[in-house]
Amino acid sequence: MPGYELFGAEEKKEVNDVLETGILMRYGFDGPRKGIWKSKELEQAICAQFGTKHAQLTSSGTAALTTAMAAVGIGAGDEVIMPAFTFVASFEAVLSMGAIPVLVDIDSSLTLAPAAVKAAITPQTKCIMPVHMCGSMADLDALKAICDEHNLILLEDACQSIGGTYKGKQLGTIGHAGTFSFDFVKAMTCGEGGVVMTNDEAIYTKADAFTDHGHDHLGVDRGADLHPYLGYNFRISELHAAVGLAQIRKLDKFLAIQKKHNLILRSYFEQIPEITFRTVPDPSGDSYSFLTWFLPTQEKTEKVIEAFKAAGILAGNFYWFANNWHYIRKWDHLKTARSLYPMNDAQKTAMLKLSDTSFEASDAIMSTCISTAISLVWTEAQIHEKGAKCLVALKEALS
Ligand SMILES: *Cc1c(COP(=O)(O)O)cnc(C)c1O
Repeated sequence: MPGYELFGAEEKKEVNDVLETGILMRYGFDGPRKGIWKSKELEQAICAQFGTKHAQLTSSGTAALTTAMAAVGIGAGDEVIMPAFTFVASFEAVLSMGAIPVLVDIDSSLTLAPAAVKAAITPQTKCIMPVHMCGSMADLDALKAICDEHNLILLEDACQSIGGTYKGKQLGTIGHAGTFSFDFVKAMTCGEGGVVMTNDEAIYTKADAFTDHGHDHLGVDRGADLHPYLGYNFRISELHAAVGLAQIRKLDKFLAIQKKHNLILRSYFEQIPEITFRTVPDPSGDSYSFLTWFLPTQEKTEKVIEAFKAAGILAGNFYWFANNWHYIRKWDHLKTARSLYPMNDAQKTAMLKLSDTSFEASDAIMSTCISTAISLVWTEAQIHEKGAKCLVALKEALS
């Protein structure tokens, strides 16, 4: 999955271009920067690679989500429907806008269950935010239909599925807006960074200003810019963009390796009749960054985890059910509204309600699910060795 595994001369060259001029900021300094505009170049490369009309880089994926929400007008009192299995950044962004994250069940795609989304719609619902977890995608046709019916915004958190597609379109480019993260462990990295993608010029213009203190970027210099609305500083630096520029040129190669490695490893797991695999709404669009598989019961899943641990092969296998970062079960800070600063009442009430909301359907899925991260630097021999070891441990645990 992670682009950092194949960091090399290309990244160093791009970063060095920036170091040569010393202009680390993406805006202004037109003379001294000597034609080096890495952030602009990366935004153009993103548009070309993913087929989106507009791309606005940000300082992180979390900043990208926050920016996207601001640009589509999500704020105080608005409800954003999102899945109970995601990364904490998804609800952090909603909360930072003063809006209310409404967490609902996932299905065997590990993403939003359309029926659960429908059931959660209220007059306050403004947006549906699918999170394309672990390299694959949500059922976007079903979610889009719900959005159309209720006049809602579709915002894709595609931070974990860079390069995945749905019915021929890149994930992150299908909703009103979509985001990627380029943090250190994502499919391609800037070190830290993110992007908002949209085909809507008005959303893009707002995102562009929002990430830079509301500057309209229309003045002859920064001092002459107007500020049509409030913003923040969510700018990416030229150094980070330079890394991303080298990485995006290698992305197709990363994706091809991922697919190859994933399918070899999968062929071992397929030999165990009790194992089933994650539902992929468009199987041809999987980015293959993870191999996600299910066991018949929680007890058997826990046995497999123990067997993997004993065999020294647990690293890279994620049992999200017991993980602090990705599943609601362990998000006590959210469920008890443990905020450093006073939250608004509607937010607080919604957070506290999560403690006695049942996520039974998600629990049943997550407690039997393991995701295996796919490395770009495995040799074929290593994958076969890994597969054979997994097979031994699986047979033992399931006997
Ligand atoms: C990584 C990630 C983010 C946020 O990205 P950062 O760049 O680390 O802020 C958001 N959503 C999901 C699903 C992620 O995996």
